[in-house]
Amino acid sequence: MSVSLSLPAYRGSTVGVSALHVGNVSVPTSLRVQKPIPGHDTIEWALYSFLIENEKAGKKVLFDLGLMKAWKEKLPDILARAHKTNSTFEVLADASEILTSASVPLASIDSIIWSHHHHEHTGDPSLFPPTTSLVVGPGFKSNPSTYPGYPTNPDGQVSETAFQGRDLLELDFTTSSALKIGGLRALDWFDDGSLYLLEAPGHAPEHIMALARTSADRFVLLAGDAAEHAGVLRPSPLRPLPDTLFPGSPRTTPFYEPREYTIPDAAAGRATFAALQAFDASAHVFVVLAHEPLFRDSGALFPAANLARWEERHGQDAVHWRFLADFQKGA
Ligand SMILES: [Zn+2]
Ligand SMILES: [Zn+2]
Repeated sequence: MSVSLSLPAYRGSTVGVSALHVGNVSVPTSLRVQKPIPGHDTIEWALYSFLIENEKAGKKVLFDLGLMKAWKEKLPDILARAHKTNSTFEVLADASEILTSASVPLASIDSIIWSHHHHEHTGDPSLFPPTTSLVVGPGFKSNPSTYPGYPTNPDGQVSETAFQGRDLLELDFTTSSALKIGGLRALDWFDDGSLYLLEAPGHAPEHIMALARTSADRFVLLAGDAAEHAGVLRPSPLRPLPDTLFPGSPRTTPFYEPREYTIPDAAAGRATFAALQAFDASAHVFVVLAHEPLFRDSGALFPAANLARWEERHGQDAVHWRFLADFQKGA
């Protein structure tokens, strides 16, 4: 499946995007991908909340919150399941604390947008004032594993405290205002071409991604968990791996196939993935997987750093192929 990518026209508005480092997860590679490369035994995920700020409109939103400090109390069943997987979790701070310590008032956050319902993305919206709305992808309210919340719904995978006393908005990509970008249905969030939310199911039914315009001709694509490690996404026929960079190259197919259960809806996942590879091959789009370690490992974090023109500043190839270092740790 190949996708032709036509990026939306610039309409004079941009957003700033920065990464709040909330915590870390170490997960056995074999749980997430088939046939891990020998020596690549664990994936070291960073947990972020991404602050997206539209100065012209005077609006701020957060895309995901990372894991919450209180998850042992608020999501004990999820905790029990997660710990059976030999994964380790570390929460450094709630996203709300990081904002407060940088003097960003929580009341200035208009919305929290969840890429999907997994606990290392949903954080603790209850720490935000009731004026901050919570935005979720399509089908969230009709899926018994997401709504109502836990513990009213014992099978709920999110805490009901997330929605209590605030607006819970479920995106509707079937409206007449929906566009298509990279073959995915899209909504223009600020109505000025600076931020598009993209329907991207597969990993979770309500999974969405965010395409943020950081300059007239550059975007950051916050891809959520549409790929859980860059080796699942890269290389691709659209952007092959040069033979100078890795033994056995050139190659045009990703290093890894995801484990089946990480993409429960395989058909939807294929369409999302084809779009993601098209974005990833564009010199105008910086694809950022939810748990990309780059910002954590280089200390390029909110409030000091932002993601605008990141690839130009750090080198397109160096950024794109950074993950190859993960395969050499055990060599
Ligand atoms: Zn997930
Ligand atoms: Zn995740």
